[in-house]
Amino acid sequence: MKNEHPELKQTLRRLLGPAEPEVGCDVCFEQLDRYVELELAGEDADRAIPGLRAHLDGCPACREEHESLRALARSDRPL
Ligand SMILES: [Zn+2]
Repeated sequence: MKNEHPELKQTLRRLLGPAEPEVGCDVCFEQLDRYVELELAGEDADRAIPGLRAHLDGCPACREEHESLRALARSDRPL
């Protein structure tokens, strides 16, 4: 199948909305600090950064990064 209407596809994706936001490792890496801060603050991190949790579930590398950031943040922070 030829990809003749890439702009139509983009429009469709926009119309379909962000039900399934795609977070890649680059975005994940950018947002992970904030995500962990929100988590530790008891905020709704999943709502603030949609799709990141799904990415963590599917990406062992980022999940590991997430774990170590959490551990780091906790040890930084006196109770
Ligand atoms: Zn990743």
